[in-house]
Amino acid sequence: MPFHGFSAINLLGILFVHHGVYLSEELMNHERIHSAQQREMLFVFFYLAYFIEWLIRLPLRGNAYRRISFEQEAYSNQRNLNYLKQRRLYAWRHYLVSRPSHHKHKTF
Ligand SMILES: [Zn+2]
Repeated sequence: MPFHGFSAINLLGILFVHHGVYLSEELMNHERIHSAQQREMLFVFFYLAYFIEWLIRLPLRGNAYRRISFEQEAYSNQRNLNYLKQRRLYAWRHYLVSRPSHHKHKTF
């Protein structure tokens, strides 16, 4: 596992998990949301957009990784195990613009 600090990473729909990490339903749901994002972005555009958004957010306030729209969608909905049944295509786009202040985010 070359990705330090991550418990799991989803590459082309294949989940790589750090040794000893418990695959909870929540974590699986998080990764399944990423799989849906990757499919609708034809994989290559997902990784491009993910990387570009991370680069743009890097100098901005907050944790760049956590603020990537793909991650915000996954973190916000991972506890809803029915989320993928009702999810609209490209739902991550609603997270591109920073949430209004009533939406509480953990700041690191
Ligand atoms: Zn994620």
